[in-house]
Amino acid sequence: MVSRVIPVDPFDLVIFGGTGDLARRKILPGLFRRFCAGQMPKDARIIGAARADMDAAGYRDMVAEAIAEFGGARACEDGTLEEFLDRLDYVSIDARGEKGWQDLAEMVRGDVVRAFYFSVGPSLFGDLAERLNTHGMTDAATRIVVEKPFGRDLASAKALNRDLAAYFDESQIYRIDHYLGKETVQNLMAVRFGNMLFEPLWNSQYVDHIQITVAETVGVGGRGEYYDRSGAMRDMVQNHLMQLLCLIAMEPPSKFDPDAVRDEKLKVIRALDAVEPHHIVRGQYEAGAEGPGYREEAGDPRSRTESYIAMKVGISNWRWAGTPFYLRTGKRLKARSSEITVVFKELNHSIFGEQQDHRNVLSIRLQPNEGITLGVTIKEPGPGGMRLVDVPLDMTFADALGEEGADQTDAYERLIMDVIRGNQTLFMRGDEVEAAWAWTDPIIEGWEARGDVPKTYDSGSEGPVDAVQMLARDTRVWRKVAP
Ligand code: NAD
Repeated sequence: MVSRVIPVDPFDLVIFGGTGDLARRKILPGLFRRFCAGQMPKDARIIGAARADMDAAGYRDMVAEAIAEFGGARACEDGTLEEFLDRLDYVSIDARGEKGWQDLAEMVRGDVVRAFYFSVGPSLFGDLAERLNTHGMTDAATRIVVEKPFGRDLASAKALNRDLAAYFDESQIYRIDHYLGKETVQNLMAVRFGNMLFEPLWNSQYVDHIQITVAETVGVGGRGEYYDRSGAMRDMVQNHLMQLLCLIAMEPPSKFDPDAVRDEKLKVIRALDAVEPHHIVRGQYEAGAEGPGYREEAGDPRSRTESYIAMKVGISNWRWAGTPFYLRTGKRLKARSSEITVVFKELNHSIFGEQQDHRNVLSIRLQPNEGITLGVTIKEPGPGGMRLVDVPLDMTFADALGEEGADQTDAYERLIMDVIRGNQTLFMRGDEVEAAWAWTDPIIEGWEARGDVPKTYDSGSEGPVDAVQMLARDTRVWRKVAP
């Protein structure tokens, strides 16, 4: 299968925080891959802007090292790296002061798309927006990209939205959630709205329940102190799992257009029920072969922050009333695996008599082995009567799509190209983020008011036993956390 790469228009991309971890691990190697793929025009420019004193040559060396360490393109011709590095420039800047701003204003061109990637902590968003305005870099050709976390509660998210709205129109603001850049996540929409097969069954009449799992094997490691201020609810559920929930539950938008899609996602968030305390299980991992326990890594022996969360969520609308959504995410679990599973109801009548429970299960694997599997029931081969067996109809993208299915564009590079194209479909709108916090806040406030203490779980396990019991009470079971 031949990949179709459509080059984007010329652009200047300024990366505030261009020397930081995110820029080195994701943004710059991703841009290099797009360059190798021929998607980035030769006259595109990337300007690193950060606190460190460095010249352009020093920055190019740093970026070359980052690309060597964090992965460049598999098939990139000799000399391409040098060509890419030639596109790079650097300015030493103070987000809170005056240093570097005049230089930056002179560097960026006025006749191409200008994108400013705020790859810095959110406390600097307002300062950057204000200085971009002071130095005449906020016109309609300008776009800004902001990283998570977008606030830590509704009040702070509103304040950030206000700070940005003072200088930028919503159509210029790209709030990144890299989950939305994943190939399979977009495939969710293609599967739902590009096939006749699924949509008629996609409701509480036919769907028993839906599970969304994002399991990690890593712990908080060196980020312990930072993570301890947020926890799994803020770090994963409010944004990534919420986005997956929206895409799986939303009504069909009238067209694949940014606001049509985001309007439908917003309606899902607004229809979410408040979550009862007994429908949530919070956990913290204990020390194991993989490393120290959560509290040790967080540097607080009495920490009550959760590294795991499982919850049962209801959506009060015509389509989903009565179908629970079970969400779970955690660190130091048995396997790294992100998966959405749609479990259909049992047949109302089996013509084959009393046989074991056979249900259709649609699994959408986000990572690893991106792909979709539909479990169907067939006859067990051989003589001796009609015995039924469940088999998977497996569509692993790498198998079905060949080379291209395996070599999937990383989420960041895809999203950055969308910014340059001016396509906001896969970015969160301000009202969506606020609605997500409005649902999340009372849950967190409830834990704080009750002094809720997370349950412990073994490193390398599937999480706290209480999460298993929560589903058992509903006579359901979690899917195995398996790679
Ligand atoms: P980092 O600490 O590694 O880098 C911060 C960068 O900001 C550096 O380049 C630094 O020079 C620059 N900076 C800090 N203060 C500045 C100032 N006053 N003026 C100018 N530049 C300044 O951080 P990071 O890990 O790269 O994260 C950046 C942002 O992205 C954060 O908001 C983080 O939450 C978010 N994020 C990071 C990751 C990740 O994997 N690292 C993932 C998702 C989101």
